[in-house]
Amino acid sequence: MNRNEPSVAVIGGGISGLVCAARLSQLGLANTKVFDTGKRAPGGRCSSRYINICGEVHIFDHAVQFFTVSDPRFAKIVSFLHTKKAVKVWSGKIVKLKKGTEPNEVQDLQAFIGTRGMQSIPECLSSLVQLEGNVWINNVHWDSVIKKWKVDDHGWFDYLVVAHNGKCADRLMADSGVPQIHNLLRVKFGPVLSPKTSVMQLCSLWVLLVAFPNKIELGYDGAFVEHPNVSWIGNNTDKYSAENNLHCWTVISTKNFGATHKVPQEHIPPSKEKEVTHLLLDGLAEVTGLDRKTVTPSFTKVQLWGAANPLNALKGEECAFKASHNVGICGDWLVSPCIEGAALSGLALAEVIDKHVKGERTDVGLQSGLAPLETEAIGSFPANKSLIFKPATQY
Ligand SMILES: Cc1cc2nc3c(=O)[nH]c(=O)nc-3n(C[C@H](O)[C@H](O)[C@H](O)COP(=O)(O)OP(=O)(O)OC[C@H]3O[C@@H](n4cnc5c(N)ncnc54)[C@H](O)[C@@H]3O)c2cc1C
Repeated sequence: MNRNEPSVAVIGGGISGLVCAARLSQLGLANTKVFDTGKRAPGGRCSSRYINICGEVHIFDHAVQFFTVSDPRFAKIVSFLHTKKAVKVWSGKIVKLKKGTEPNEVQDLQAFIGTRGMQSIPECLSSLVQLEGNVWINNVHWDSVIKKWKVDDHGWFDYLVVAHNGKCADRLMADSGVPQIHNLLRVKFGPVLSPKTSVMQLCSLWVLLVAFPNKIELGYDGAFVEHPNVSWIGNNTDKYSAENNLHCWTVISTKNFGATHKVPQEHIPPSKEKEVTHLLLDGLAEVTGLDRKTVTPSFTKVQLWGAANPLNALKGEECAFKASHNVGICGDWLVSPCIEGAALSGLALAEVIDKHVKGERTDVGLQSGLAPLETEAIGSFPANKSLIFKPATQY
């Protein structure tokens, strides 16, 4: 690493932050450091839980379930991840499900998953970057004389990348002296986009991880669900061809359910945990036709994603950057709520910073404003038939 090379601090080790840092390093800006809160690993909303139940370790994807590819730039990243055995094509059957009707298979969708849970993706990307995990950045300060950012007690950096959203990013940049950047990080929460809102809006989603003692034969592996409480169900055990005794499913709530049952996500009251578990299991039984009395789970765990997915996104640009202050933001909410959206945003910001280093001093995305998104509750799944991936090797 060259000591005279500009340094970059990336706050957030989700897909957008990791891709941004990896691309910066590839462009020669290797003096880039990612800070992430993740205690076990980075990845943010693209992560998995490995849960030991009665001596067996089970993979549960507790946010991202699968992803699609529609942009050639993202296809390149996915090809790289494939060569590193971090992703594979998922041949599971995905359907649309509505109570009282036959499951309707989703056509023309090439789905990808991690090789050992979605966690394989950030795990692979983080091997390309300098990462400091289990770190919560609380304060950043721009010194306009030396033109550097102080990042808590982690030192001074030439560039700052904010690669996370929610209350934390809103607070972090509120007094940063860059109101145009803070404007894009101001946030509100709710299941339905307020008309004419100019502020980022995020929904909340509950997730139930459930293990059954017996295999449940439904004829599909994942389903987008039309139900007041449930928006997605997915089978983790078959997805990862696990030869375990228990059969693990992920059930994800609707946005309305997330809002109705919202509590502080770090301190979920036991009574709420019980209520949400009960309601989501009821929802699962209703849409699949399972008999709740005969199918008793061996294990359940609920989790609330308070800042789950954006309902609006930046118009026309994939990231934002304030040239006078060497600060940029990237994340899914600037493109589209999915792995591809997050990756493209990180990639775009890396290119902008590289150009800035080379003398191109232009602001990006600061005047663009936000537009409503139409997606599934769990995110978007953009497809492009001309990009169907034919991997030479399957894992
Ligand atoms: C329940 C659920 C299901 C989903 N399902 C799918 C799906 O099936 N397919 C799909 O493509 N997408 C899905 N998505 C969307 C997908 O997860 C996101 O679009 C993507 O992961 C966003 O990545 P990101 O880098 O923008 O943000 P994040 O993943 O949120 O990354 C931000 C990171 O910053 C860290 N951070 C925050 N504050 C600080 C701080 N102060 N200091 C240091 N670090 C900090 C966080 O811990 C986190 O690791 C789902 C999302 C949810 C919630």
